[in-house]
Parts: sequence; C-alpha cells; structure tokens
Amino acid sequence: METFVWDRHFTTDLDTVDDQHHALVDLINRLGEHLVAGPADDTDLEAIFGQLAEYAIYHFAEEENLMAASGVDPRHVDEHKDLHRRFVNQVQSMWHARRTIATATTVLHEFLAAWLSFHILGEDQAMARQIKRIAEGESPGVAYAREADPVDNATTALLGALRNLYHVLSAQNDDLVIANRNLEQRVAERTEALARANAALTDANRQLEKASRTDGLLGIANRKYFDEKLREEWQRGRRERHPLGLIMLDVDHFKRYNDSYGHIAGDACLRAVAGAAGGALKRPGDLIARYGGEELVIMLPHTDVAGALAVARQVLEHIHALALPHCDSPVAPHVTVSMGVASRFADTARSAESLIAAADAALYAAKEAGRNRICGATPHDPQAGAAMPDQPTEGLR
Ligand code: GH3
Ligand code: MG
Ligand code: MG
Repeated sequence: METFVWDRHFTTDLDTVDDQHHALVDLINRLGEHLVAGPADDTDLEAIFGQLAEYAIYHFAEEENLMAASGVDPRHVDEHKDLHRRFVNQVQSMWHARRTIATATTVLHEFLAAWLSFHILGEDQAMARQIKRIAEGESPGVAYAREADPVDNATTALLGALRNLYHVLSAQNDDLVIANRNLEQRVAERTEALARANAALTDANRQLEKASRTDGLLGIANRKYFDEKLREEWQRGRRERHPLGLIMLDVDHFKRYNDSYGHIAGDACLRAVAGAAGGALKRPGDLIARYGGEELVIMLPHTDVAGALAVARQVLEHIHALALPHCDSPVAPHVTVSMGVASRFADTARSAESLIAAADAALYAAKEAGRNRICGATPHDPQAGAAMPDQPTEGLR
C-alpha cells in the first residue's frame, strides 16, 4: 500500500531535510505494506513503528537545529516546534490505544501519511522559504511576515482548511483515546469489585452452609446433618452391599456433673468429650454428630460390629485419657461414658432407623449393666442381622 506518493511539491531544496523526509516516507510506506499483508504480526509492526517514531523525533530535532542556526524568526520556530511536539504525543497515544480500538493501526497509518504531507507542504515549505530569504539577506522578521502574504490564494486557503481539519481530528482523537482509557479503567474497576463481591458471597454461603450443619455448642455435625448422612449411607450400603456401623454414646451421670460443677462447666465437659471422641476416628467417611443433649452418635461406613466395637474402645480410651474429675459419679472419680454399638447390612425390609434402634438398645443395656462400658447389639435382638458379634456385650473397667 503506497499511501504516500512523493511529489515534486514536497521538495524543500534543503538537502538534509529532503533526505530525511524521504526516509520518513519510506518508513510510513513500509508500515502500510505490513498492514495490507495483515493479520499483522505485532512484533514486526512494533519494530517498524519504533523506528518511525525514533526517526521522526531525530528529524524534528534536526529541523529545529537548522531553524536556530539559520536565525528563523522565533514565532515560526515556536509554532513549528509546537506542531512537532503535538504530533509525537498524538502518535504515541494512538499507538498505545491500538489494541482497544478496532481500526486503530489503519487510522494511525493514514494519519501519519496525511500529517506528513500536510506538514511538509505547509510548515516545512514555509521554513525552507524563510531560510532561503534570510540567506539572501532578508531579516527574519520580514521573512516571517511575508509568509502571511497570500502568494497563491488557492493554496493558502486549502492549507488553512486542512489545518483546521487537522486540529478537529486531533481533538477528536484525543477525546477518543481518553474516553477509551476511562472506559477500560471503569470496566477493570467494576470487574474487580464484582470478583470481590462474588468471593465474599461464596465465602458467606460456605460459612452459612457449614453453620447449618454444625452444632453451635460442640462444633461437630448437628442432628439434622447426621440424619441426612445416615439416610445417604444407608442407601449407598444397600447398593454396594457393605455394612454400616453405628455408635451411640451417652455421658454417664451428667445431670450430677451439672449439679456439681454448673452448666458452663457442663458445656465445656461436653465439648471435651466430643473432641476426644472425634479424635479417635480415622477414616474420612466417619462422622460424629450431636444426637441430642449429652448424647453423641458416630456413623462408620464399611464397618461391621467387630470394627465398630474397636472404634468404640478407642473412643473410650480417649475419653478416659481426658481424666475429667466427676466428684459425684458413683461409677468412677472421673467423667465416663456408655456406648451402644451396632452394624447392619441395609436391606429393603429395614430402614436406617432400625440401626439406630439397635444401637440405642445396646446403649440402654450398657447403662443397665453399670455404665462406663460398651455393649454390642445382642443376637437375641430380632433386628440384629448377620453382622452380629459372637460376644455381643462387653464391659470395660
Ligand atoms: P445417665 O448416666 O443415665 O445418662 O445419667 P444422666 O444424668 O447423664 O442422664 P439424664 O438424662 O438424667 O440427664 C442428662 C443431663 O444432661 C441433663 C441435662 O441438663 C444435661 N444436658 C443436656 N444437654 C446439655 C448441654 O448442652 N449442656 C449441659 N451443661 N448440660 C446438658
Ligand atoms: Mg519535516
Ligand atoms: Mg447421660
């Protein structure tokens, strides 16, 4: 795309200036060729643009030095320098905006070509004429003033119109770049705020969900969550044919504990018992929950009675290790618990409640037998099923 076609009117007769203008035109045309060959590789484009920007700055400095050396009237020098400076700013901001404005690179290229031809025909020719006249002996002031004379009405009018057009386009372009930058910033701010709000919402939801399945006092699962999980595991056990173990745990003589130490100490004691019991569980699928009052329940998927009894023994050991004093207990000088253990293969005839009933009956048996012990559901229990231990009842200590 030869956008810039050199024409004899561009020649200023200042040799270095003309050579440099030719070099700029070549770079602009190379940029154009790259755009036509497009989808342009940004690295190549960046390299050509970099050379162009660097060369333009060098050339402007050369022109400004030449004007100073030739004694051109400062009014022209100031106007000329101002145009150079604005051009550099304009091109830089268009280049930075190129990724966010769809046709930015093409617009930039057209702008470069149009600006250069206009600038050479206007400002640079005026500079060249003044340098020539000063060299011929005219004063810089007079040479400058003569530039205002309408030598050729049509050209002067055309250049005037083009200058206005250039100013309007520049202002519009600046507005566009600024508006675009503000928009990008607002979008980025909104996106960030939205991401923060989303994260906070997700976090709040997670906390809410956790709170809805946790017992506020003991920090373990609550009854509601346990009921859901028990039903789920029962269904899974039915599909996969594996036994589901259950331990019901009740603190012995807890009413007396409260009476002796007060309710607040009673709460702390329950928390300690729940913590110790939870600490005895090894598998990720095991679940400890508060069943109600001072009664806890432990669900053990894939666990037969022998396995559940083994876990119950571990729980008992952990609780004994706490050695919490209980001065009014007729069983031991420290806090003790009783546990009922059961395990069932789920079948269509029975529900998960039958497992709870069996563990509950075993817990009752443990209390009856003197507390501070573990009982397995007895084989005489009509709901006992196939997974019953040979020695259904055991006492510890
Ligand atoms: P047993 O050995 O037969 O289980 O006797 P117990 O005294 O532990 O049983 P009982 O059912 O007679 O009393 C349970 C007590 O547990 C009564 C109740 O006030 C107390 N309790 C239940 N929940 C809490 C609680 O959250 N905090 C406190 N401090 N006490 C509780
Ligand atoms: Mg120039
Ligand atoms: Mg109790």
